[in-house]
Amino acid sequence: MKLLVPVKRVVDYNVKVRVKADGTGVETANVKMSMNPFDEIAVEEAVRLKEKGVATEIVAVSAGPAACQEQIRTALAMGADRGILIEHDGVLEPLAVAKLLKAVVEKEQPQLVILGKQAIDDDMNATGQMLAALLGWPQGTYISKIEPADGGLKITREVDGGLETLQLKLPAIVTTDLRLNEPRYASLPNIMKARKKPIETVKPGDLGVDVTPRLSVVKVEEPPKRQAGKKVGSVQELVEKLRNEAKVI
Ligand code: AMP
Repeated sequence: MKLLVPVKRVVDYNVKVRVKADGTGVETANVKMSMNPFDEIAVEEAVRLKEKGVATEIVAVSAGPAACQEQIRTALAMGADRGILIEHDGVLEPLAVAKLLKAVVEKEQPQLVILGKQAIDDDMNATGQMLAALLGWPQGTYISKIEPADGGLKITREVDGGLETLQLKLPAIVTTDLRLNEPRYASLPNIMKARKKPIETVKPGDLGVDVTPRLSVVKVEEPPKRQAGKKVGSVQELVEKLRNEAKVI
């Protein structure tokens, strides 16, 4: 089974995000960038499927500026076999990414695409679902378990108040949730080996996809600052404040 794993370059989850002075977005210049954490989980799952002999080849693909090579290299160091960079310097909305991935799927013919459930930069939670719709493939979102079964996949989804188990026919799309696995750190020898693995670079035009944005960002602003808390001396004082100051009881 051939697997495709899309990996997005995002602001590292440890970085305190700052809004640009002109309110058009968030600051990404001189900020630590990393692979989207849900995509690390996707790469880890792909590598585990390869280690179990279920997957034969893992292709990592990233759309964005040339620097996305770093995230592809991380995926290669974790165990992916080769990479595809879809180089584009402007804004890429989920629909554009889904169309680009559809073109890659048509060329590469994977049996399974494992995406993150959402990218932590703009929390769109849309690309996997759009890709499934464009391809007409079955999809399993927010998965916390994946097992090969009956020629397809048995997947467990995290839903409100419980778990749902579905049987998917291949080819299929799945998106990862936090509890699927704990991604490995790439070892130094594997980081060195990853340098020799091939990365092909294409442009959206080569894939016949128009990525012109359809949405415009009206304004980006920081959430209002939280007021400092107050310590109360007794339960009576707390009740009095809740009743007379906060007026919530
Ligand atoms: P989103 O719909 O933007 O929240 O992203 C969901 C998932 O789609 C991510 O976790 C990635 O697996 C994939 N994805 C989104 N944007 C890109 C991109 N520019 N390059 C590669 N994969 C992406």
